[in-house]
Amino acid sequence: MDIVELEKGYPDSEETIKRIATESGNSVEVIRGGSVSDTLHFIGDTRVISEKEGYVKELPGVMRIWNVSASYKNVAKLAAGKSGEVVRRSQRVVKVKGPDGHVRKIGAGKHIFIVGPDSPQTFEQTLEIARYARHIGEKFGILDRIILRGGAFKPRTRPTDWRGLGWEGIEILDRVREETGLPYVTEVMDHTMAAEVAKHADMLQIGTRNAQDFELLEACGQTKKPVILKRGFGNEAEEWFSAAEYIANQGNLDIVLCERGVKTLFIKEGYCRNTPDFNVITHVKKKTILPVIFDPSHVAGDDKIVVSNLLASLPFLPDGSITETLHDELFRKVQKCDAAQALIMSMYEKAVEAILTYEKMIQPIIEQIQDYFVHR
Ligand code: PEP
Ligand code: MN
Repeated sequence: MDIVELEKGYPDSEETIKRIATESGNSVEVIRGGSVSDTLHFIGDTRVISEKEGYVKELPGVMRIWNVSASYKNVAKLAAGKSGEVVRRSQRVVKVKGPDGHVRKIGAGKHIFIVGPDSPQTFEQTLEIARYARHIGEKFGILDRIILRGGAFKPRTRPTDWRGLGWEGIEILDRVREETGLPYVTEVMDHTMAAEVAKHADMLQIGTRNAQDFELLEACGQTKKPVILKRGFGNEAEEWFSAAEYIANQGNLDIVLCERGVKTLFIKEGYCRNTPDFNVITHVKKKTILPVIFDPSHVAGDDKIVVSNLLASLPFLPDGSITETLHDELFRKVQKCDAAQALIMSMYEKAVEAILTYEKMIQPIIEQIQDYFVHR
């Protein structure tokens, strides 16, 4: 028993269902339907609740009970009724509120622009980028679609490489947020740090190298902060969705999946850092209720091909993107991590302009095409 469809006007039944869920350590998310019914989604491990299915079925107003066959129950798109009928759960909208009062809605049909340095290395660098991002937001009237990024704690392949400023980096991000009003997302690398980082950041990021660190996933879930979950670079889609389920099982459905490229033989030839899997964006939409964004920076490894990758992802209708940028070309020489792929902000501005044009001129046609395939 994963979802209960309840006719409107039965608050007592709703309360009873919520109580049953709480008693078994689960929570309930109520999605208010348009006219006839609401749906109650159990979040957590639903095995214990399922023992009460017979009782719940008899409660006044209960119309149908749905079961999700995928192992990632909380985030799966499709649920099946007892006689095999299928319901498509609605897309999740993940909200990130900034101190400027704007709520960024990821998954609500408009491209969300997450942008910033790979890592806050100096206050000035981070502030300049954030100010420019804000300027882009104001210029195009999309301030409510801009989020700042920056990893204070950096996972590095080689132990000799610089690993970020750590808490000092968080302090910089806090100050820049105060200065610009933009909310920020930053990476958490260890489960013992999730709660503390969550006191500062508006959104947490789990990186590709830690994408299957189950304790970290659970700890981030427990913070109840929105989480970006990058796809592990060797993960199959189902492994990725199951990783998301670890976060969801903690009662946190505010998860945004991020495709950032996978390792293939072709990267050995040196023309890209990772191979983008655009197809998986469509697959995420088919299989899960979660928003999905695309990272054009880590697939590229070279600023020359970042914009091309970003624009190439658009027909797959990602809910947004996360892009690494540079405030000043001269800084590239002293940037300690991911310098080669950092896109200068003026070029990022052009990319935003192209995306907004695409959104207006081409996206409506693409949506019609996608609609046909989704509903066929
Ligand atoms: C990053 O966003 O800087 C990063 C480390 O990303 P990924 O985990 O995708 O490599
Ligand atoms: Mn990076």
